[in-house]
Order: sequence, then structure tokens, then C-alpha cells
Amino acid sequence: MEETPRGTGRHEVAPCPKCGKPIWSDHPYSWCSKCGMPLPADVQGRLATLQGVKKAAADSRAAAEEGRTTTLVVDGRAVPCPICGHDRYWTRETVMSDRGLALFDAEWAGASAMNYVCDRCGHVLWFMPK
Ligand SMILES: [Zn+2]
Ligand SMILES: [Zn+2]
Repeated sequence: MEETPRGTGRHEVAPCPKCGKPIWSDHPYSWCSKCGMPLPADVQGRLATLQGVKKAAADSRAAAEEGRTTTLVVDGRAVPCPICGHDRYWTRETVMSDRGLALFDAEWAGASAMNYVCDRCGHVLWFMPK
């Protein structure tokens, strides 16, 4: 029986080599979500969603490989991502006069804010200069 397709061409790519769970083309992980077995490279290469996730994560992964990820410490406490609970972030500085930031108050114009970007889910935390 066909499950409700999401997007186009959702189909079973292969069964898990270990436990036999069907791996669908929108499977977002490089491992079997049932038994945790890493999927063979040729199977991973056919997972459309996983490839998208990998592409989106490329920036943060590159940052991690260069040792640029960090924990977020506020008032001496390590703060996990509010979305996914991950505790590694990569950081960037955003100048408030950038185009597209007109929503910010004029008094912040020209100031720079610190962004902490969750290394796992990409959620962005903003820290304004005091
Ligand atoms: Zn499995
Ligand atoms: Zn997160």
C-alpha cells in the first residue's frame, strides 16, 4: 500500500541492511532510524532529503571542521539550542545596517549583533550589543 506521498517521487530506496526497515527517499538521516545502522553510501546517495540536509549543513560542518563552533555561555551557564537542544554553535557578526534589517530600531543602525547559529538545526540566536 502506498503511503501519502510528500513532494514528488517518495519511494522506498532500500531496506535497512541490518533490520530490514524500509528506507524511504525522504529519509533525513545517514543511518537507520530504527536500529541505528549506518546506511551504505549508495543508499545515502539516493536519499533526496538527506542530500538536501547535507547541503544545508555544509556551512556549519565546514565551520565545525575548522574548529569554529563553540558553546553558548550566558551568565556562566551553557545554553542549549531552544529548538533541538544541541549545544554547539557557529558564530557570525551581523552589522545592523545591512540591507534587510530595517525591522531593527534605528538606534541599532551601524551596531553589530552577534549571531549564534545552532550547528545542528540552524536556528539563529541574536545577541544585541549592550
Ligand atoms: Zn535498521
Ligand atoms: Zn538547534
